Amino acid sequence: MSEERNKGNKEPLSRKHIDIVLVDPQKSENIGAAARAIANMGLGGLVLVRPRFSKPELMEAAATKTGLSVLRLALSFPDLKSALEPHQLIIGTTARPGSHRGIIHSPRDLAPQLLKLEDPPKVAIVFGTERQGLTTEDLRLCHKVMMIPTHNLLSSSLNLAQAVLIIGYELLLAAGGEGSNPLPIVPSSMKDFERAMEDLESVLVTIGFLPEMNKGHWFMNVKKIFQRSQLTRGECDLIQGICRQLRYYVGKEKKED
Ligand code: SAH
Repeated sequence: MSEERNKGNKEPLSRKHIDIVLVDPQKSENIGAAARAIANMGLGGLVLVRPRFSKPELMEAAATKTGLSVLRLALSFPDLKSALEPHQLIIGTTARPGSHRGIIHSPRDLAPQLLKLEDPPKVAIVFGTERQGLTTEDLRLCHKVMMIPTHNLLSSSLNLAQAVLIIGYELLLAAGGEGSNPLPIVPSSMKDFERAMEDLESVLVTIGFLPEMNKGHWFMNVKKIFQRSQLTRGECDLIQGICRQLRYYVGKEKKED
C-alpha cells in the first residue's frame, strides 16, 4: 500500500471531501477537540448526530482558535441515516474487532483508497458515542470498517477526539502532506560559506589559536565541523559577526596594553 502514498506529488492531495461524523457525542470537550483535529489535518466538515451540547464554553475551549470555524460550520442531524444522505462512501470506526464486523481495515491501509486525484466521492468517517461506540445498526450503514491498531485488544478503546486525530493524521500522510509544514532549511551558497570560513580562519590566527604557518591544514578540522552542519546564509553572517566582534575586542585590548 505504501507505494500508493502520494510521495511523488508535490501538492498534497485534498482531504476536504472527507467529513467526520460523530454519533451521539456526549462530551462537549470531545466535540471541540474533534473540530480542532479536523482543522489540524485539513479534513472536510464536522457532522453531528444528536449531539449533547452541555457545555458550549468547554467545547469552544477544546476547539481552540484552530478548530472554531469547523465547529461553527458543523451540521447537526436527528439520526445517522439523514446525516449520511450526501455521502457516497461510508467508513465506520470501531474499538472492537467483533466477529460479525467483517474485514477490519487499518487507517494506514484504507487511507490511500479514500484519496483519489480526480472527482473523489464524498466520504464520511463515522465515530461512535464515548461509552458504547457505534451500534450494529449504525455499522450496517457503513461500506467498510476501520480500527486503529493499539498495543493490545484490552486497551483498544481510544478517546473519541484522539481517534479522529489519528485517522486524520494517516490521511495527511497518505496525501503526501507531511512535508508541507516544517520550514525548509536553505543551505548557504558555497560563496557565503567560504567567506565565513576565511574570516574565521583569519581571526583564529589573530587570536593565536592557529599557527600562521600551515594555517589551512590546521583549520581543516574546524571547517569540517561547519561543513557537517550545513550552515544557512544567516548562520554564515552570524559567524562573520562573531569574527568582527573578536577583532574589535582584540584591537581594543591591544590599545589598552
Ligand atoms: N467503549 C467503546 C469505545 C467507544 S470510543 C467500544 O468499546 O466500542 C468512541 C469512539 O471512538 C468509537 O466508537 C470509535 O469511533 C472511536 N475509537 C475509539 N478507539 C478506536 C480505535 N482503536 N479504532 C478506531 N476508532 C476508535
